[in-house]
Amino acid sequence: MKVSSKQKALVIGAGPAGLTAALELLKRSDTEITILERDAVVGGLAKTVEYKKCRFDIGPHHFITESDRITAWWQDIAEGDFFEHKRYTRIFYNHHFFNYPLEPVNVIRGLNILECARSVFSYMWVRFFPIKEVTSFEDWVTNQFGRRLFSIFFKTYTEKVWGIPCNEISADWAAQRIKGFSLSKAIFYAFFGRFFTKNKPRTINDVFHYPARGAGTFWEKVAGRVKAYPQAEILMQQSVAKIEHDHHRIVSVSTRNMAANGVGAAVPLERHAADVFLSTMPLQQLILSLDPLPPAVVVRAAQALRYRGLITINLIIDRHHVSADHWIYVHEKTVRMGRIGNMNNFSLKMVDDAAKHTALSLEYFTYVDEPFWFKPEHELIELAKYELEKIGLVRASSVIDGMVLRTPEAYPVYDANYKEHLCCVLDYLGIFKNLHLMGRNGMHRYNNMDVAMLSALDVVDRMLATQPHDFCHQKKEKPVSATL
Ligand SMILES: Cc1cc2nc3c(=O)[nH]c(=O)nc-3n(C[C@H](O)[C@H](O)[C@H](O)COP(=O)(O)OP(=O)(O)OC[C@H]3O[C@@H](n4cnc5c(N)ncnc54)[C@H](O)[C@@H]3O)c2cc1C
Repeated sequence: MKVSSKQKALVIGAGPAGLTAALELLKRSDTEITILERDAVVGGLAKTVEYKKCRFDIGPHHFITESDRITAWWQDIAEGDFFEHKRYTRIFYNHHFFNYPLEPVNVIRGLNILECARSVFSYMWVRFFPIKEVTSFEDWVTNQFGRRLFSIFFKTYTEKVWGIPCNEISADWAAQRIKGFSLSKAIFYAFFGRFFTKNKPRTINDVFHYPARGAGTFWEKVAGRVKAYPQAEILMQQSVAKIEHDHHRIVSVSTRNMAANGVGAAVPLERHAADVFLSTMPLQQLILSLDPLPPAVVVRAAQALRYRGLITINLIIDRHHVSADHWIYVHEKTVRMGRIGNMNNFSLKMVDDAAKHTALSLEYFTYVDEPFWFKPEHELIELAKYELEKIGLVRASSVIDGMVLRTPEAYPVYDANYKEHLCCVLDYLGIFKNLHLMGRNGMHRYNNMDVAMLSALDVVDRMLATQPHDFCHQKKEKPVSATL
């Protein structure tokens, strides 16, 4: 039964969380909804971009979840355009490809007997002498796998992703991403996994779904359903710049039209009033947009939250087959790239002429104040070509075209002090009774699509049940598939 409500809701962001919340509210109530989206396309980080008849996600986005509610939601929207894949992923380290999940024979071959013996010894060592005070990612993983395997299979890639040493990354990140996974489990599932599929930890789960023409097409369908309701609209290229509040209530948000001529402050703002506000914009931006600004201590805490940017260099290769991998994690220190996604292996429809071409998406992690962020497109493409050849995957001369996508806030950073800053920000935002936070950057949580969606469904459940919100004590999440 629909809840009758004369209220108007404003949703900031047409990514997975914003679109999920909007559609769920529309299905279950007659709330009037406006979604404000900064970008020209929907889908947020899960959008798909087309270039020269090839389609690229911002890093291929696979659909995987343990939630029955999310599975039902996905199946309903996808209407059959949702194909099952058996994950094939490898790690490139020290000139060798290691299968992931790790397979003992493949590991022994790649590491040689001496390195294996060292790894086993260092694993046994931490079993007897674990690090007692676990504060960092390095401590956490070393306790699970031993120092040797930590440095082979975790350190380099993790430091590429975050750009900070593993002993300065909070243990929370490892606990959230690779909880329930240990060396003994990895070996057990490597030998006997096929007989024990039911309780397999999600970190080594190997089946996922993907739509034929990119993850973003799924979110375009959700947007289509939202727009089919007469009381809903999605306003594109509207970037929230100011959020007015009064007496512990948000009153309105004002947006800058990104398509309008004029630069920055020269473009007049457009004001949108509503009764209730749902936000997926990065928390730092949200705090800095508040008018009046919060107390200085809250502003400082928001400014201390950090985001890791991502540059994806998307290349078209003049071959129909490059490798069978969905992803290759590049742990090799001698190249800067972190991960390669092969779009053809997610779906042959990602490339119009898949008989001749392969679409590869190479991920480079960076902070937006690093010189790397500002490198011109042609230099980045040359770098990607050089590195592909260097690791022996594709000759530079096989790359026929390329384009670059820059994502400034791809990852909310869990550095050593993030929790303190986050709690300060969330405590302050808790005073606004008509503001709901959800999603990945909206809550500063390193989540996959399913968990971002669950946070949106949770907001809608609470809104329709009129339960009070409690930002600092959100429901415990299940761990999500790890990027090892
Ligand atoms: C490289 C990479 C690979 C990933 N792979 C996977 C995967 O394989 N599977 C998976 O499930 N998840 C994956 N994820 C995670 C997934 O992208 C996120 O969990 C999901 O997109 C979060 O949804 P969201 O709506 O919370 O945020 P977002 O996707 O970030 O959407 C937020 C939206 O808000 C808009 N916005 C921001 N600021 C403003 C503003 N001021 N005004 C108006 N609009 C604004 C943005 O433009 C965006 O559209 C991956 C993420 C990355 C970076």
